[in-house]
Amino acid sequence: MQTIYETFSPEETAAFGRRLGEQAKPGDVYALVGDLGVGKTVFIQGIASGLGILEPVCSPTFTIVQVYESGRIPLYHFDVYRIGDIEEMEEIGYEDYFYGRGLAMIEWADLVTELLPSRHTVITIEKDLEQGFDYRRIRMEEVGI
Ligand code: ADP
Ligand code: MG
Repeated sequence: MQTIYETFSPEETAAFGRRLGEQAKPGDVYALVGDLGVGKTVFIQGIASGLGILEPVCSPTFTIVQVYESGRIPLYHFDVYRIGDIEEMEEIGYEDYFYGRGLAMIEWADLVTELLPSRHTVITIEKDLEQGFDYRRIRMEEVGI
Protein backbone atom coordinates (compact mmCIF):
# COMPACT_ATOMS: atom_id res chain seq x y z
CA MET A 1 0.00 0.00 0.00
CA GLN A 2 1.24 3.46 -0.85
CA THR A 3 0.63 6.52 1.27
CA ILE A 4 1.13 10.01 -0.08
CA TYR A 5 1.90 12.95 2.15
CA GLU A 6 2.37 16.52 0.94
CA THR A 7 4.36 19.28 2.62
CA PHE A 8 4.83 22.96 1.84
CA SER A 9 7.85 23.84 3.97
CA PRO A 10 10.97 22.21 5.46
CA GLU A 11 9.34 22.49 8.89
CA GLU A 12 6.36 20.42 7.73
CA THR A 13 8.65 17.74 6.30
CA ALA A 14 10.59 17.62 9.57
CA ALA A 15 7.34 17.44 11.56
CA PHE A 16 6.18 14.50 9.45
CA GLY A 17 9.53 12.80 10.07
CA ARG A 18 9.21 13.48 13.79
CA ARG A 19 5.91 11.61 13.94
CA LEU A 20 7.45 8.62 12.17
CA GLY A 21 10.43 8.74 14.51
CA GLU A 22 8.09 8.56 17.48
CA GLN A 23 6.60 5.34 16.09
CA ALA A 24 9.75 3.66 14.73
CA LYS A 25 10.56 0.16 15.94
CA PRO A 26 13.87 -1.72 16.22
CA GLY A 27 14.74 -3.30 12.87
CA ASP A 28 12.80 -0.81 10.78
CA VAL A 29 14.54 0.10 7.53
CA TYR A 30 13.61 3.26 5.63
CA ALA A 31 14.97 3.48 2.10
CA LEU A 32 15.03 7.13 1.08
CA VAL A 33 14.91 8.03 -2.58
CA GLY A 34 15.01 11.48 -4.14
CA ASP A 35 17.26 13.93 -5.94
CA LEU A 36 19.86 16.17 -4.34
CA GLY A 37 18.25 18.96 -2.32
CA VAL A 38 14.81 17.40 -2.22
CA GLY A 39 14.76 17.17 1.58
CA LYS A 40 16.04 13.74 2.60
CA THR A 41 18.25 15.15 5.32
CA VAL A 42 15.53 17.52 6.57
CA PHE A 43 13.24 14.50 6.85
CA ILE A 44 15.86 12.49 8.76
CA GLN A 45 16.45 15.41 11.13
CA GLY A 46 12.75 15.20 11.95
CA ILE A 47 12.99 11.46 12.48
CA ALA A 48 15.95 11.99 14.80
CA SER A 49 14.03 14.48 16.92
CA GLY A 50 11.11 12.03 17.07
CA LEU A 51 13.51 9.42 18.43
CA GLY A 52 14.63 11.92 21.07
CA ILE A 53 18.09 12.46 19.60
CA LEU A 54 19.28 15.88 20.70
CA GLU A 55 22.59 16.22 18.87
CA PRO A 56 22.58 17.76 15.38
CA VAL A 57 22.13 15.36 12.48
CA CYS A 58 23.65 16.16 9.11
CA SER A 59 24.53 14.05 6.10
CA PRO A 60 27.51 11.80 6.81
CA THR A 61 30.02 13.13 4.28
CA PHE A 62 33.23 11.25 5.02
CA THR A 63 31.67 8.07 6.35
CA ILE A 64 28.89 6.04 4.82
CA VAL A 65 27.07 5.60 8.11
CA GLN A 66 26.63 7.74 11.20
CA VAL A 67 25.30 6.15 14.37
CA TYR A 68 23.26 8.07 16.96
CA GLU A 69 22.73 6.22 20.22
CA SER A 70 21.18 8.91 22.39
CA GLY A 71 17.55 8.38 21.38
CA ARG A 72 14.85 5.89 22.32
CA ILE A 73 16.38 3.41 19.84
CA PRO A 74 19.59 3.82 17.82
CA LEU A 75 19.48 5.67 14.50
CA TYR A 76 21.75 4.38 11.74
CA HIS A 77 21.95 7.14 9.17
CA PHE A 78 23.45 6.08 5.83
CA ASP A 79 24.22 8.31 2.89
CA VAL A 80 25.46 6.07 0.10
CA TYR A 81 25.63 8.79 -2.57
CA ARG A 82 29.40 8.54 -2.93
CA ILE A 83 29.64 4.80 -2.69
CA GLY A 84 31.98 3.26 -5.31
CA ASP A 85 30.77 -0.30 -5.15
CA ILE A 86 28.79 -2.61 -2.92
CA GLU A 87 32.02 -3.93 -1.31
CA GLU A 88 32.26 -0.70 0.68
CA MET A 89 28.98 -1.64 2.35
CA GLU A 90 30.39 -5.06 3.25
CA GLU A 91 33.49 -3.38 4.70
CA ILE A 92 31.50 -1.25 7.12
CA GLY A 93 29.41 -4.26 8.15
CA TYR A 94 26.09 -2.87 6.93
CA GLU A 95 24.23 -6.00 8.02
CA ASP A 96 24.73 -5.12 11.68
CA TYR A 97 22.70 -1.97 11.00
CA PHE A 98 20.14 -3.25 8.49
CA TYR A 99 19.30 -6.14 10.82
CA GLY A 100 20.08 -4.34 14.07
CA ARG A 101 18.19 -3.04 17.08
CA GLY A 102 17.67 0.45 15.74
CA LEU A 103 16.12 2.32 12.82
CA ALA A 104 18.19 2.29 9.63
CA MET A 105 17.66 5.17 7.19
CA ILE A 106 19.44 5.11 3.87
CA GLU A 107 19.74 8.21 1.70
CA TRP A 108 20.15 7.25 -2.00
CA ALA A 109 18.90 3.75 -1.18
CA ASP A 110 18.32 3.06 -4.87
CA LEU A 111 22.12 2.65 -5.18
CA VAL A 112 22.09 -0.35 -2.82
CA THR A 113 18.68 -1.95 -3.48
CA GLU A 114 20.13 -5.46 -3.67
CA LEU A 115 21.33 -5.19 -0.06
CA LEU A 116 18.06 -4.01 1.47
CA PRO A 117 16.24 -6.49 3.72
CA SER A 118 13.26 -8.04 1.97
CA ARG A 119 11.05 -6.08 4.32
CA HIS A 120 11.53 -2.29 4.29
CA THR A 121 9.76 0.97 3.65
CA VAL A 122 10.56 2.97 0.53
CA ILE A 123 10.14 6.72 1.02
CA THR A 124 10.33 8.76 -2.15
CA ILE A 125 10.48 12.55 -1.94
CA GLU A 126 9.76 14.60 -5.06
CA LYS A 127 9.38 18.23 -5.98
CA ASP A 128 6.60 19.51 -8.20
CA LEU A 129 7.39 23.07 -9.18
CA GLU A 130 3.85 23.66 -10.39
CA GLN A 131 2.81 23.37 -6.74
CA GLY A 132 5.43 25.88 -5.55
CA PHE A 133 9.15 25.91 -4.80
CA ASP A 134 8.81 24.48 -1.29
CA TYR A 135 6.26 21.82 -2.13
CA ARG A 136 7.29 18.19 -1.59
CA ARG A 137 5.39 14.99 -2.26
CA ILE A 138 6.42 12.18 0.08
CA ARG A 139 5.39 8.70 -1.00
CA MET A 140 5.68 5.80 1.44
CA GLU A 141 5.41 2.19 0.43
CA GLU A 142 5.95 -0.86 2.63
CA VAL A 143 7.73 -3.62 0.75
CA GLY A 144 7.79 -7.31 1.64
CA ILE A 145 4.92 -7.33 4.10
P1 ADP B 1 18.84 16.16 0.44
O1 ADP B 1 19.33 15.52 1.72
O2 ADP B 1 17.70 15.42 -0.19
O3 ADP B 1 19.95 16.40 -0.54
P2 ADP B 1 18.41 18.45 2.13
O4 ADP B 1 17.47 17.95 3.17
O5 ADP B 1 19.86 18.57 2.51
O6 ADP B 1 18.25 17.59 0.80
O7 ADP B 1 17.96 19.90 1.62
C1 ADP B 1 16.64 20.20 1.27
C2 ADP B 1 16.53 21.69 1.00
O8 ADP B 1 15.23 22.02 0.50
C3 ADP B 1 16.74 22.51 2.27
O9 ADP B 1 17.46 23.67 1.93
C4 ADP B 1 15.30 22.87 2.68
O10 ADP B 1 15.24 24.08 3.40
C5 ADP B 1 14.63 23.00 1.32
N1 ADP B 1 13.17 22.78 1.35
C6 ADP B 1 12.23 23.60 0.84
N2 ADP B 1 10.99 23.13 0.99
C7 ADP B 1 11.12 21.93 1.62
C8 ADP B 1 10.18 20.95 2.05
N3 ADP B 1 8.84 21.07 1.85
N4 ADP B 1 10.66 19.84 2.66
C9 ADP B 1 12.00 19.69 2.84
N5 ADP B 1 12.94 20.58 2.46
C10 ADP B 1 12.52 21.69 1.84
MG1 MG C 1 21.19 14.69 2.31
